[in-house]
Amino acid sequence: MASARTSYLHRLRCSLEGDVLQQGANLLSGLLSLSPAGKPIWCDYDLKAIGAEIDRDQISDASRAGHGMWRWRELLPLPMDLEPVSLGEGDTPLLRAPSLEDELELDRLWIKDEGVNPTGSFKARGMSAAVTMAKHLGAKALVVPSAGNAGGAMAAYGARAGLATHVFVPEDTPEINQLEVELYGGNLYRIDGLIDECGHQAAAKKDELDAFALSTLKEPYRLEGKKTLGLELAEQLGWRVPDVIFYPTGGGTGLIGMQKAFDELATLGWIDPVKRPRMVCVQSTGCAPMVRAFEEKQTFARPWENARTCASGLRVPGAVGDFLILRALRESLGTAVAVEDAALLDDMGALSAATGICAAPEGGACLTALRSLRKSGWIKSHEEVVIFNTGTGAKYLEVLRQLKKPQP
Ligand SMILES: *Cc1c(COP(=O)(O)O)cnc(C)c1O
Repeated sequence: MASARTSYLHRLRCSLEGDVLQQGANLLSGLLSLSPAGKPIWCDYDLKAIGAEIDRDQISDASRAGHGMWRWRELLPLPMDLEPVSLGEGDTPLLRAPSLEDELELDRLWIKDEGVNPTGSFKARGMSAAVTMAKHLGAKALVVPSAGNAGGAMAAYGARAGLATHVFVPEDTPEINQLEVELYGGNLYRIDGLIDECGHQAAAKKDELDAFALSTLKEPYRLEGKKTLGLELAEQLGWRVPDVIFYPTGGGTGLIGMQKAFDELATLGWIDPVKRPRMVCVQSTGCAPMVRAFEEKQTFARPWENARTCASGLRVPGAVGDFLILRALRESLGTAVAVEDAALLDDMGALSAATGICAAPEGGACLTALRSLRKSGWIKSHEEVVIFNTGTGAKYLEVLRQLKKPQP
């Protein structure tokens, strides 16, 4: 029986060098940030044991597994007998978009609407996992740099966990993303500088604050929470994957996490062993380090200077998981596309008006990228496409004001 095990997590290793950092009796023995090589840490599960003890129908059985992303308990790091820090994240709708299918001459277009998560974005998935694990491993307080939705999500899950939170934001961060931190009782630090400066200051202050840092991919577990995007998508499609996935990419946790999810599901024999979606990394022309590195066939990406875009989730000039993003794009035969802010704003409106989904600028960016790859013929009309609307447009008040039309 599954309950006989505490966790199916098998070991933690460096995602670049492969050296094992925790396993056996040592596993889950303490908080980890980056590997000694300064790279993200990767969780390996005992997939053989999982496959021997449960099947995919048990995951889908709400009477056994409940609702939300923690249904995937066996594929998540928390020991099975412990309660996660949860606000009901995950199990978001996957909706067809018939009028866009007609317009783009596509047989099947789906929107995965992550805007309905707690705190209004898919950051909830990563933070639910990371805050759960940080609390379990003894953290007393949490710190994160954020230029958008991550800070609010961490503050909310910190409140849920009873942990103090400290969020470092650039002064020009959208007001709602600052106010929500304080709403959840978090401590807000407004920094005169960009997100990298917030990262430096957060790192410099974390010992004084006695806080553990939950920066993107600088601890192992936000990635595991984001992985549930891919697990859930495959299940919702009837244990299949689509042909193409559009992902608005900042730090890239969701893109890397989905690729990891499909690998794990394939190893378990729960989806086709070979078929993988072509992953499309979408960025803004005002901050496109991954697109540039992909086009230049680089292994790592150099940081983008003067990053500027109204899609705050995409305003990430340098990503510690750059090589993992680029590898996922190449292995999946995917690509990377940069779109203009003016176009992504138009498509934020077009996506919302065509579907009734409250699209974020990042969701709009995916529609713009889809238009361009349809036009170039990279996507054929018979191919099944999924777009991620990663947050709710309702949190982008400054952007919505720009979209406002004159009264009819
Ligand atoms: C954070 C964020 C992104 C980027 O996610 P990554 O996993 O960091 O690439 C995209 N959209 C929204 C709305 C976000 O908040």
